[in-house]
Amino acid sequence: MGLVHQAGVAHEIGDMNRIKAIGFDLFNTLITAEPHALKGALGRLTGSLARAGIDPGYEEFKEAYREAALGFIKRANRTGRETHNRFWISEALGKIGYRIGPYDPRIGRAIDAYFSAFLDFCHPFPWTLEMLGTLRQRWPLGLLSNFTHAPAAFRIIDHLRLRPFFQVVLISGRTGFRKPHPAGFIRLVESLGVEGKEILYVGDDPEADINGALRAGLYPVRCIWGRGGKALLPPGAVSEEVEIEDKNVPEVSTWKELLRLLP
Ligand SMILES: [Mg+2]
Repeated sequence: MGLVHQAGVAHEIGDMNRIKAIGFDLFNTLITAEPHALKGALGRLTGSLARAGIDPGYEEFKEAYREAALGFIKRANRTGRETHNRFWISEALGKIGYRIGPYDPRIGRAIDAYFSAFLDFCHPFPWTLEMLGTLRQRWPLGLLSNFTHAPAAFRIIDHLRLRPFFQVVLISGRTGFRKPHPAGFIRLVESLGVEGKEILYVGDDPEADINGALRAGLYPVRCIWGRGGKALLPPGAVSEEVEIEDKNVPEVSTWKELLRLLP
């Protein structure tokens, strides 16, 4: 049985009987984006800029935006402090000759346009609502998501009718901390009113979700039912080759498998 180390104290993972609450990641765990979501979102972003008289051309902007986003996301992953799209857009425009500050209202409108695409192109998995409905009857549920622009995350969660299942919804864009940083997990633990080791945390990302939950003293379960799903970040921003730090972390490929793990 594996050991989880928290503040110098080791506890064993593997005892499901002590689970008192369940936490979930959002993307590729509860919901998925259509393959063209990112392209659609970028199209809406550049369309909004063009309507504001900023017309850098889609291809040129896309490349500058990808580079800028990658830099900011890598820094956020390193520091644990969440970044925001307004800085990516401002820097991308700067690279191609437009000096527009990150808090300019034209960038604000472009961000709203960008995320409006996710309302149209994101869907729960076919079993998500049934899974949450079933689990909620026995455990309080919490959501902890890495999402830069928190208002959009809340809009998506409401739009897809996920909100009522959760006792707490924590978005990195609001808490300020990006998984795997422990701060988000600690907020989840506090909000659910149990101990870390009493929370099962379900997510798909080996580093952000699984190693993050392990280091924060939660009990992670990796779901692979969203494998192949699009990350809504520019290519290169998400590293897939990270090893899970405890070989005993269960992996589930259907939600019935998750249910069978539980007491
Ligand atoms: Mg995910």
